[in-house]
Amino acid sequence: MKIAILKEGGEETRVAAIPETVKKLSALGARIAVEKGAGEQAGIRDSDFAEAGAALGDRAGVLDGAEAILCVQGPEPDALQGAAKGALLIGALDPLRRSDAVTGYAEAGIEALAMEWMPRITRAQSMDILSSQSNLAGYKAVIDAAAAYGRAFPMMMTAAGTVSPARVFIMGVGVAGLQAIATAKRLGAQVSATDVRSATKEQIRSLGGKPIFVEEEEGIEGEGEGGYAGETSEAYKKAQAELVSSHISKQDVVITTALIPGRPAPRLISDAQVASMRPGSVIVDLAAEAGGNVEGIEAGSTTVRHGVQLITPIQPARSLAADASALFSRNLANFLTAFWDKDAGRVVLPDDDEIVAGIRLTQDGRKVHERLQSA
Ligand code: NAD
Repeated sequence: MKIAILKEGGEETRVAAIPETVKKLSALGARIAVEKGAGEQAGIRDSDFAEAGAALGDRAGVLDGAEAILCVQGPEPDALQGAAKGALLIGALDPLRRSDAVTGYAEAGIEALAMEWMPRITRAQSMDILSSQSNLAGYKAVIDAAAAYGRAFPMMMTAAGTVSPARVFIMGVGVAGLQAIATAKRLGAQVSATDVRSATKEQIRSLGGKPIFVEEEEGIEGEGEGGYAGETSEAYKKAQAELVSSHISKQDVVITTALIPGRPAPRLISDAQVASMRPGSVIVDLAAEAGGNVEGIEAGSTTVRHGVQLITPIQPARSLAADASALFSRNLANFLTAFWDKDAGRVVLPDDDEIVAGIRLTQDGRKVHERLQSA
């Protein structure tokens, strides 16, 4: 099976393979072709890929006869000409926002697999690109906040007086939020955190953070589908807003990460709450691309409102391109390995497999995923 690795375009810095995964996939029996310059921004030279056993070439050569194409962001369908009929396209394809591209994949006979729709089941953990990239995003959010904050994070007792520790509040304690708590703690901040899932209380404590929770209202009953959060009740939302109001005005740094799959991000911080913070405080909204947890923000910007810096990164893992590529690539390689059929010498994707059904967007010229039927 020939597997093509594309050089990404636009703002993307990551690459969908690293030398380690090239070796791993070659050992299965795959032939790997890497587009020249694909690893440039992630610190990987063409010669590193070649040493790992990949053939380097231009886009047309790499795609020629490829039966699988690995990418970070989904390319335009007409950029895939030359691939074998029924070739697999595997990456973060953003199917709901790129509905036309998905139609194009179907028309081009490409079998598109959206890795961000990987089911949250134990077997799929090692293939989960959302987790691997969110983890880095949580870390980077704290680093960005620390860089923008005009004070120190740790307490310092010096001959010239004491520097107080920064108070950091994390809203949304999933993969990104947990890493943000851990990173802020390592930098010496006083950390508190909140979520709608009560299971996170213990996780916050175990990382040395203080849980801030709405206790008196029923929130969502346990976890939502697939380990994600669900929509909260109106009473819960009101109680949460009051709690946030009293807590947030005393915070120096707030990192928001709250997401609800398939819906806009929940609004957690109003403009009035931003105004209640001390000048010089910093908010990083990691949910900006999904509409934002902070009222009135725009994704991909750094602005100052009421003296508070608002940072809204787009795909923050991109700024850690080497690590982000390594983790992303391993997620893809783990997926390919799990479905590798030794006798056939290729990946075989059974229709009745939960993972396949969760991520397969197109097949045999049609959109097949149930979430795309109305799109
Ligand atoms: P996510 O990115 O969907 O959301 C981030 C966090 O925001 C979640 O913790 C969510 O509960 C929280 N949130 C949503 N609405 C909120 C609100 N109104 N107020 C405050 N917080 C709110 O979540 P995630 O990081 O992908 O992880 C969610 C869970 O799934 C975690 O427990 C994680 O460990 C688990 N997980 C399991 C697997 C697997 O088994 N394969 C893979 C990844 C994650």
